Amino acid sequence: NNVLVARNLKKVYGSRGNIYPALDDINLEIKEGEFVGIMGPSGAGKTTLLNVVSTIDRPTSGTITIDDEDIVKMNEKRLSLFRRNKLGFIFQDFNLLDTLTIRENIVLPLALSKINYKEIERRVNEVSNKLGINDILNKYPYEVSGGQQQRTAAARAIINKPKLILADEPTGALDSRSSSDLLQCLNDLNENSKATIMMVTHDAFAASYCKRIIFIKDGVLFTELFKGKSRKEF
Ligand code: ADP
Ligand code: ADP
Repeated sequence: NNVLVARNLKKVYGSRGNIYPALDDINLEIKEGEFVGIMGPSGAGKTTLLNVVSTIDRPTSGTITIDDEDIVKMNEKRLSLFRRNKLGFIFQDFNLLDTLTIRENIVLPLALSKINYKEIERRVNEVSNKLGINDILNKYPYEVSGGQQQRTAAARAIINKPKLILADEPTGALDSRSSSDLLQCLNDLNENSKATIMMVTHDAFAASYCKRIIFIKDGVLFTELFKGKSRKEF
C-alpha cells in the first residue's frame, strides 16, 4: 500500500510573462517501507518537491495523498495536526532548540499530544537506544557533536511514529564518519522498524543507502534506479 501518491503535480513560480514550472506534471508513488532518494542537479526542483509533499508549500495544481488523506485540500489548522501526527522531519541544519536538552528536543513532537508520561519515557528510551544517544539526553545541543545533534533530530522525527519521514540533505552538514553513522541509523529504521523515508540528497554516498533513487531534472522525473540483487557488498 502507498504512503504517498502524487498525481500531475505542478508548481509554478513567477508572474505573467515570466512563468516557469519548478515541478511539471510529477507523478510519484511511495509504498510503505520504502527508502527513496531524490537526486538531481541544483535547481531541478528537489526542495520544491519535498516542500509540497511535506505540506510546507502548496502545489499550483495536482493532488497529493499521504496515508490516504488529501493534503492539498486541507486547511492550515488540520495540516498542522497532520504534520505532527503523520510526518517526521530531518533538516540539513538539525533544527534543534538550543534552550532545551536533548531529551526535551526529542519529546517536542509529543508536547501537544495526550500521550502520558510513562509512555513518553518508554518512547524516549526506545528511540534513544535506536539512535545511540542515551548518554547525552541531559545535555544541551551545543554540548554535543554535529553527528549527535543530527541523530537527536532523527530521534525527534520518529518519536511520533510517523507514516513518512522527510529528510532534506540530512548529511549536508556532517563529516564523513557522522554521515555514515546517521545513514546507518536511517537504514536500520527502514529495515528493522519499517520506517518509510524520502530523502533529498546531493550526496551519492548518502543515496547509496536508498533502495530506490529517483532523478529529477528541470521539474520532471527523469529516471529511477532500484537497488537490485546485483549490488556487491564489500
Ligand atoms: P533544487 O532543490 O533541486 O536545487 P529547487 O526546488 O530549490 O531546486 O528549485 C527549483 C526551481 O524553482 C529553481 O529554478 C529555483 O530557482 C526555483 N524556485 C525555487 N523556489 C522559488 C521561489 N520561492 N520563487 C521563485 N522561484 C523559485
Ligand atoms: P505549525 O506551525 O503549523 O503548528 P509545526 O510547528 O507543528 O507547524 O511544524 C510542523 C513541522 O514542520 C515541524 O516538524 C517543523 O520543523 C516543520 N517545518 C517548519 N517549517 C518548515 C520549513 N520551512 N520547511 C520544512 N519543514 C518545516
